[in-house]
Amino acid sequence: MSSETLVQQATTNPESNPFDANSFDAAVMSTYGRFPLALERGAGCQVWDTEGREYLDFVAGIATCTLGHAHPAMVEMVTRQIQKLHHVSNLYYIPEQGELAKWLVAHSCADRVFFCNSGAEANEGAIKLARKYAHTVLDIDNPIILTAQSSFHGRTLATITATGQPKYQKNFDPLVPGFYYVPYNDIAAVEAAISELDEGNYRVAAILVEPLQGEGGVRPGDVEYFQKLRQICDDTGILLIFDEVQVGMGRSGKLWGYEHLGVEPDVFTSAKGLGGGIPIGALMSKKFCDVFQPGEHASTFGGNPFACAVALTVCQTLEREGILANVVERGAQLRTGLQAIAAKYPDYIAEVRGWGLINGMELQADIQLTALDVVKAAMDEGLLLVPAGPKVVRFVPPLIVSEKDVENALQMVNKAMAAVTN
Ligand SMILES: *Cc1c(COP(=O)(O)O)cnc(C)c1O
Repeated sequence: MSSETLVQQATTNPESNPFDANSFDAAVMSTYGRFPLALERGAGCQVWDTEGREYLDFVAGIATCTLGHAHPAMVEMVTRQIQKLHHVSNLYYIPEQGELAKWLVAHSCADRVFFCNSGAEANEGAIKLARKYAHTVLDIDNPIILTAQSSFHGRTLATITATGQPKYQKNFDPLVPGFYYVPYNDIAAVEAAISELDEGNYRVAAILVEPLQGEGGVRPGDVEYFQKLRQICDDTGILLIFDEVQVGMGRSGKLWGYEHLGVEPDVFTSAKGLGGGIPIGALMSKKFCDVFQPGEHASTFGGNPFACAVALTVCQTLEREGILANVVERGAQLRTGLQAIAAKYPDYIAEVRGWGLINGMELQADIQLTALDVVKAAMDEGLLLVPAGPKVVRFVPPLIVSEKDVENALQMVNKAMAAVTN
């Protein structure tokens, strides 16, 4: 079957079952605050709900569907690989895993890669790597990992602890020991924390930080701050770890967020955009690749043939179709448009900021209006958006988004702002 036919099938065959939210809620744990919307199919940057209503998708599975929905290259590879071999254990060599690792090594500062299934799992791996490195190389008994306030690193116990936001930790104590929080983009706070901890019985072993804070409100890192972090780590042997789960894989207009900051990490993680929506995560390192010995870290599903073949297709499509150039252009178009909207509503919108196709529109702090209000109003207009914290509306469309899509999205944001300020 040709890939065109498969896309056709994926996008034109509505299910006839009407969606019933009550029976859904009766069977699924209520871990998410859900919008009253059930999505059924998608094509490119468009998705359709179970009633057949069309939406422009500027959420992309939260910065995940790099190539949008039902991309022919993904449909073809998913189909081909599932027929060939989808899962085998890491007890054996997996050629697709090797090919994806080679692509990542060739397109980043990494020397080697470990594959897992999600951002949190990749960060867990980074935390374990840092601790083992601290014990075995730096000879630290009580290693501390510095992380930033308003960061986000995942939902496992170690990664909610790493996350510098109390709302994700509440009622899940006891948390994992060995983390300490500093304000983001504040180098004096890092220096103070390192010497303060040193006077106690602790030592900083690693600094884990996002090049741009995503969930924490779309806050780009300062070049000067990151260069000083690099300097401190070079001088002391502290590992510099970047969480590239949201900003990496081309979303920022460069393949990796760190390329905006003029520094390279020792260790970094990727997930969201890497598989274009197929679950996969990666832990990558430059130099510190031999910390784990055979048997010390593993993942049953990590790096299986299916996930790796599809992720490699995403990577190769990004490269072949010159998608990063589109990210830069569409990002500039989006920010210019949002800035014009902000200029129209100065009492409501404080700032528009971001890199490439990860952008935030921050609302004024001293008004009632929340990001959720704007997201709901945009949904009424047919545009899907997602908050990044209570006051920031986030724009993370598929990286293949067109000029016309951005134009349409801006029109809908305009209408949504008119509705919420009325
Ligand atoms: C989403 C996210 C994570 C967690 O990824 P999961 O795949 O949900 O575990 C970690 N770090 C950052 C920066 C993220 O945006």
